[in-house]
Amino acid sequence: MDKPVVSVIGAGLAGSEAAWQLARRGIRVRLFEMRPATMTEAHQTANFAELVCSNSLRNASLETAVGVLKEEMRRLGSLVMLAADRARVPAGAALAVDREDFSGFITATLKAHPTVETICGEVAAIPSGPAIIATGPLTSPALGEALNSLIGPRNLYFYDAIAPIVAADSIDMQIAFRASRYGHGGDDYINCPMTEAEYRAFVEAVVAAEKVAPHPFEKPVYFEGCMPIEEMARRGPMTLAFGPMRPVGLIDPRTGRRPFAVVQLRQDDREGRLYNIVGFQTKMTYPEQRRVLRMFPGSDARSSFASARFIATPSSIPRACCARPCSFAGVMTCFWPGRWWGSRDTSSRRPRDCSPRSMPHG
Ligand SMILES: Cc1cc2nc3c(=O)[nH]c(=O)nc-3n(C[C@H](O)[C@H](O)[C@H](O)COP(=O)(O)OP(=O)(O)OC[C@H]3O[C@@H](n4cnc5c(N)ncnc54)[C@H](O)[C@@H]3O)c2cc1C
Repeated sequence: MDKPVVSVIGAGLAGSEAAWQLARRGIRVRLFEMRPATMTEAHQTANFAELVCSNSLRNASLETAVGVLKEEMRRLGSLVMLAADRARVPAGAALAVDREDFSGFITATLKAHPTVETICGEVAAIPSGPAIIATGPLTSPALGEALNSLIGPRNLYFYDAIAPIVAADSIDMQIAFRASRYGHGGDDYINCPMTEAEYRAFVEAVVAAEKVAPHPFEKPVYFEGCMPIEEMARRGPMTLAFGPMRPVGLIDPRTGRRPFAVVQLRQDDREGRLYNIVGFQTKMTYPEQRRVLRMFPGSDARSSFASARFIATPSSIPRACCARPCSFAGVMTCFWPGRWWGSRDTSSRRPRDCSPRSMPHG
């Protein structure tokens, strides 16, 4: 009898891992990825498992649940973990990666695998044969429509997200200093310290800044673990100081004291030319971001931005599809865990517009 062929739709993080795990077990795989023929609003490359936002896979320590999870994945022969360990960049206790090395390795490994056939093309319908759908938060409109008709539009919705990347040479290291909180993980992070007056001015500017108007299909339903900074600031003047800007475990070497607040920057590429702003996502317009982010002491925040819509899908999808021989993997199956969401761009690329597609998903 012929061995089954499983279609894996979407070569993102989940689809790449699923294809790899099937292939390791001798199962033939057809891995469909629509990029580069059809791009999403956030992805920038043709690579599989492209990280669209943060380059951090979170804490690597075995004392944390996320660290244990990663170790379990290693022991299960995970391709994502193999790639992450090879592409690791300094990030204190976190496992952060050079995103191009990371996705490049996964792409090359899957393309070279003898039982994985990689197909560049958009899949517009839910397959009838054995399949894993792993099309992620930026599922293409046609497949989104097919899912809508299966589970109902109430169960799918979008957010917009924008996240800045800061050029390393725009950071004034006379003011900013290197350290990880409580010294855990050496001096991998760059910290821009703020006095109380600077912090309060920053919060006021964030609240007052012009924001991108929501699309008609967007619902302002925020996941509490990863909120836009202006939403945090709106909830109270000290929310950011107790959130992503908390100064705990950090001493400013210039003053010998804990700053009132800090903005932390985490290395984004192997060469250390780009830095992520830890815990920030925002709907401020691009010009407003440039203006407001220049208020970080120690940084003239020469930044670039990209924006993207993404789709949130509650776990009703697997139940709705249980009559079919298909499974769902990755972000398709759930709301996200506690990280911030945004997209990134590099200084060489122009910000992309995020105008609504012709077919809103919900
Ligand atoms: C703007 C934005 C910011 C994010 N920020 C973070 C973050 O900071 N931290 C974090 O952990 N996660 C973040 N995420 C979520 C992140 O996308 C997921 O963590 C992770 O990429 C999800 O993996 P996935 O495999 O489910 O989806 P993805 O990695 O998105 O992979 C899905 C793949 O399917 C392809 N595809 C889509 N539709 C089709 C189709 N019809 N046919 C064929 N191929 C298709 C896409 O091109 C893509 O390659 C963010 C997502 C977005 C959109």
